[in-house]
Amino acid sequence: MTTKTVLVSGAGIAGPSAAHWLRRGGYRVTVVESAPAPRPGGQAVDFRGEQLKLLAAMGVLDEIRRHETAMGEQTVLGLDGRPALTVPGSAWSGEVEILRGDLARILYERTADHTEYVFGDRVTSLTETADGVEVTFDHGAPRTFDLVVGADGVHSGVRAAAFGPEPGFRTDLGYGIAGFTAPNHLGLDHTSIMYNEPGRGVTVGSHRRPDRLHVGLVFAADGVEFQRRGPGEQRALIARLFADTGWEVPKLLEALPAADDLYVDSVSQIHLGRWSKGRVVLLGDAAWCAGPGGSGTGLAMMGAQVLAGELAAAGGDHVTAFAKYEERLRKPATIGQKNGRGSGNFLVPRTAAKIRGRNRAYRMLSTRVFGGIFTWMTDRAANALEYREYPAPDSAHRGTRVAARREVGHS
Ligand SMILES: Cc1cc2nc3c(=O)[nH]c(=O)nc-3n(C[C@H](O)[C@H](O)[C@H](O)COP(=O)(O)OP(=O)(O)OC[C@H]3O[C@@H](n4cnc5c(N)ncnc54)[C@H](O)[C@@H]3O)c2cc1C
Repeated sequence: MTTKTVLVSGAGIAGPSAAHWLRRGGYRVTVVESAPAPRPGGQAVDFRGEQLKLLAAMGVLDEIRRHETAMGEQTVLGLDGRPALTVPGSAWSGEVEILRGDLARILYERTADHTEYVFGDRVTSLTETADGVEVTFDHGAPRTFDLVVGADGVHSGVRAAAFGPEPGFRTDLGYGIAGFTAPNHLGLDHTSIMYNEPGRGVTVGSHRRPDRLHVGLVFAADGVEFQRRGPGEQRALIARLFADTGWEVPKLLEALPAADDLYVDSVSQIHLGRWSKGRVVLLGDAAWCAGPGGSGTGLAMMGAQVLAGELAAAGGDHVTAFAKYEERLRKPATIGQKNGRGSGNFLVPRTAAKIRGRNRAYRMLSTRVFGGIFTWMTDRAANALEYREYPAPDSAHRGTRVAARREVGHS
C-alpha cells in the first residue's frame, strides 16, 4: 500500500495542527508557507473546556502551560487617560493563554521532524484529476498530491484557486487590527492597559518577557485592504491613523519602524456554503474566520483533529470524510461567527458616548453575576465542539482510539 500524500497550505495554527493529526493517520504531509519562516506575531490566544482535552491529546498542553501569559488585571482607561476600572485577567484569558506566535512555534517544532515544510512559496493553481491534485507553485516545481488542505488563513490562496476570488466570501467587519512589540517603558508586569478614543484603541500588555510590551491597535477602517500593502506602506498607514492619538500612543509608535513582528489586517469573516471541493478542503480561518472573540484558534486546532479523524474513520474516503468534518464543524463555526460579529462595538467604539457605554459594560464584568454570564458565553463558544477520539486507521478493527495513543507525560 502506498502512503497517501497531503499538501497543507499555511504554517500558522491550523496547518501544523493538521500536519500533526494527518501524520498520525498515516499520511505523508507537505506544508507550504508563503512567509520565509513561521510567523512570530499576534496577540494572546486562549483555550477553554473541551479544547484543553485536545491540547492534552496532542501532547502540547504542558509546553503551552510553560509559555502561558499568566495575565493579571487589565486596567481600562477613561477618555482622559486616567484609570477608569479594572477587569480581572480571568475574564479574557480562559483556562490557559499563550501568545499566538509562541503557539505557532510550538506546533511547528512539534511537527517539523515528520513534515516536509517548504517556506517562501505558495500554491498558484490546483487541477484535480481522477486520482490526485496537480499543484503548481510560485517557485517550486509542480507536484501531485492525493489531497490538499487550505489552512492559509483569511486570505487563503487555496480558497482562491479552488473556490474563487476572495470578495465572494469575505465580509469586512469595519475595523482593522495591528500588533507589534515595543520596549516596556510603562513597566507593566503581567498586566495590561486599554485606552480608547473614538474609532481607535490601543491595548498594551507585558507577558513573559518583562522588557517587552505587546501593542495591539484597533481602528475603524471600512474596506481598507491592508494585506495587499508592503510592510513599509503598512507602517506608514498605521502611523498616520494614530498620529494625533493621546495617552502613551506617540511613544509606542516610536517602536513601529523597527518592529520585525508587525501584523496588520482588516478584520473579516469568511462565509462559504461548502468547505470542500473534490480533493480540496479548507480549514481554520480559510474556511470560517470569525474575527476576535470567535474562538478561532481553538476551533482551527479542533477542526484539524476532526478532519484527520474523519479521514481515518472513512478509511481514506475523502468524500465521506469531508462531508462528516463539515457536519461537525458547521455549528461551532457559526457560534464563533456570531460572537465575532459584535467584537467591533467592544474593541473600537466610534463615539465618546459609546466608549463610556462600553466601559460601563466592562465594569459589570468584575461583578460576579455579569462576569459569570460573560464566562458562560465564551465557554459556550469554546465548548461548542466536543472533543472526540477517532479510531486509529491501522487498528480500527481492534477498537484502538487515535487519541488513546497520545504521548504519556506530555499531558
Ligand atoms: C502573524 C499573525 C498574527 C496574528 N495575530 C492575530 C491577532 O493578534 N488577533 C487575532 O484575532 N488573530 C490573529 N491572527 C489570526 C489567527 O492566528 C487565526 O485567526 C487563528 O489562529 C486560526 O489560525 P489559521 O491557521 O487558520 O490562520 P493563520 O494563523 O492566519 O495562519 C495562516 C498561515 O497561512 C499563511 N499564508 C497566507 N497565505 C498563504 C498562501 N497563499 N500560501 C501559503 N501560506 C499562506 C500565513 O502566512 C499564515 O502563516 C494572526 C495571524 C497571523 C498569521
